[in-house]
Amino acid sequence: MATSQRDYYELLGVPRSADAAEIKKAFRGLARTLHPDVSEAPDAEERFREVVEAYEVLSKPETRQLYDRYGHEGLRGGGFTPTSFDLGSLADLFGAFFGDDLFGTAARPRRARGADVAAQVEIELAEAATGTTRQVPFPVTVTCATCAGSGAKPGTQPVTCATCGGRGRLQQVSRTVFGEFVRSQTCPACAGVGRVVEDPCLECEGSGRTVEERTLDVQVPPGIHDGQQIRISGEGHAGSLGGRSGDVYVEVRIKPDPRFVREGNDIFCTVDLTMTEAALGATVTVPTLDGELELELDPGTQPGELRVLRGRGMPVLQGFGRGDQRVLVNVRVPRRLTEEQRHLLDEFSRSEGPETYEADEGFFQKLKSAFR
Ligand SMILES: [Zn+2]
Ligand SMILES: [Zn+2]
Repeated sequence: MATSQRDYYELLGVPRSADAAEIKKAFRGLARTLHPDVSEAPDAEERFREVVEAYEVLSKPETRQLYDRYGHEGLRGGGFTPTSFDLGSLADLFGAFFGDDLFGTAARPRRARGADVAAQVEIELAEAATGTTRQVPFPVTVTCATCAGSGAKPGTQPVTCATCGGRGRLQQVSRTVFGEFVRSQTCPACAGVGRVVEDPCLECEGSGRTVEERTLDVQVPPGIHDGQQIRISGEGHAGSLGGRSGDVYVEVRIKPDPRFVREGNDIFCTVDLTMTEAALGATVTVPTLDGELELELDPGTQPGELRVLRGRGMPVLQGFGRGDQRVLVNVRVPRRLTEEQRHLLDEFSRSEGPETYEADEGFFQKLKSAFR
């Protein structure tokens, strides 16, 4: 590994008279900004390695002395080579250097917000059109009513943790490639709380929380789409140490409706005409979200023809108006004919000519405009 030739004090930005604490502080600051996890600079890794090397030398009295007297030359003569290390995550590295978490946010137990709850509700498309209210049940953790969340049997109190003396953290001296480090870790006996329950509450077995089945009336607004979530604030799992409760996210699933295909706020449906109905014109019954509707189709209605029922689609979610309903005409051709029918069609066929089928718009064009 290439050894840096730059001045170590300069690299750390400290005077030559700096004491161990100043050096450590300077290194900590630089490592935070230079680590490739954090820095976008292309030379971040190189600079980071230089800074680590400088720290390695200046943080140990023997190597620092050697460097102060004889410079880089002296270190090489003294057999010093920088420790090669893996650029792990910044959090790991800081753990190794200082025994703490990323950016010093040590895991002290604190007031924490409760977790969110996910629930699901399934509704019909027609209900999505009008909006609906559903009772949604879900299990949720709540503060134990018996011990008021302390986890201790009523009449008793949690006591100071003997393992950590109530600090919640343990200090441990360890040897690493960088030398001796004091590592502080969360106390395993009390999980960082600093207090332990000797006589646990029977209701919650000392956890301070119990699971309860809760049911909420969930209002599903008109126009909701499949997969959308409704957030109900503050009805989720209880927080710890008085933190606020989490939220409930209710995912709305809309059952497929065999009559309709939804596309945004528009809905599609098809209507079947027989060959003769298409030729002679007919009144057909069309399903809509608001019930059935009579639709008159002119003589000469073509397969693929589209009728738009304005404002018969889904309502606009949290908006005004509704989408459209598009009715696509399908014409059924007879598959089985009696002798008589065949005869009649033969007769008809003899009488028809090109003018009988005079085209206006091609079938394909119509199909395309149905799906624009
Ligand atoms: Zn309890
Ligand atoms: Zn403890």
